[in-house]
Amino acid sequence: MPFKQIPGNRRVRDLLRMALAKNRLPNSLLFCGPEGVGKRATAVILAQALNCLRMNDDACGECEPCRAVREALDDPDKAGKFPDVMGISLDKSKKEIGIDRIKEIKQTAYLRPMAGRGRVFVVEDAELMSSDAANSILKILEEPPLFCHIILVTSHPEILLPTIVSRCRILNFLPIAIDEIERALLDKGLSPERARTLALLARGNLEMALTLGWDDVLARRELAWRAFLALVADKDTSPFLRLWAYAPRKAVEDDIVRTMEFFASFFRDVLYLAEGGASHGLLNPDLAERIAEAARFLNGPDALRGLALVEAVLQALDRNMNVGLVMTDFVSRMTGRNHARDCLSVIPAHG
Ligand SMILES: [Zn+2]
Repeated sequence: MPFKQIPGNRRVRDLLRMALAKNRLPNSLLFCGPEGVGKRATAVILAQALNCLRMNDDACGECEPCRAVREALDDPDKAGKFPDVMGISLDKSKKEIGIDRIKEIKQTAYLRPMAGRGRVFVVEDAELMSSDAANSILKILEEPPLFCHIILVTSHPEILLPTIVSRCRILNFLPIAIDEIERALLDKGLSPERARTLALLARGNLEMALTLGWDDVLARRELAWRAFLALVADKDTSPFLRLWAYAPRKAVEDDIVRTMEFFASFFRDVLYLAEGGASHGLLNPDLAERIAEAARFLNGPDALRGLALVEAVLQALDRNMNVGLVMTDFVSRMTGRNHARDCLSVIPAHG
């Protein structure tokens, strides 16, 4: 599969293709960025491109080396399928990537490639290397053989040893734009309605968009809608607070983010109707009647203000602010009353 089939992060793809074309790919690479934005998929294509028989700045995805490299990296049972490419990932029974795995790299890193043009090692979740393992890989990163490429993949570069980070060329991956996720879902055969809703909820995470169950999404949206209507129509906070009264503490923040994404889509739809938009242009076209009902309680400026409040919550959570306080502020502004006591008793005040 060529680079262009990965949605988003065009800048990274262009940089890699240019480096491949000029035969100037750095030997030590660090792929950083949030979950689900294509870091691993890009590493696989890069490993293919370094061995592809038909292209030198991309992977055809079809020649024998391209297929063998993909199998070697995607299927643990076929790890030896292409001798010059090795994937290292966390063994599920362990908490960290141990030094024994890095020794596997060392055994072959200094040997000339047997089949292709370059040896490639892909270390997933690189932040989970034990300190022994990290120190061991550091030695190869310091003086990598010319034909050897090590790609470290991580969503948490801040945990890596600074000495490792400083020896790698860092490529930062960004969240994927909603319309690019939507297009990828349409390409997978999803209906336009599903593709749009899932793309909205995934917040730039393509992997999440692909794994969210549609029935689950509809059930969550229904709960979010009831909480939304109670807040805007009756200034009643109880359905809203009940959403996470029983949720496990660790899941609360994710739940709040998803609920806020639904709220944002409801506010946008109210705004859209207020501006005279037709119901088929709504983000939630199947909820057209209900959106019209909510529009009786919310005018355009109210909806715009609601959108700004939701955006403020999402930004505050991105900055790891205290969840309980953030939500207290949100419902207090939504209802015009102070709800500190209700919120702080229900929503954990961590963060
Ligand atoms: Zn190929």
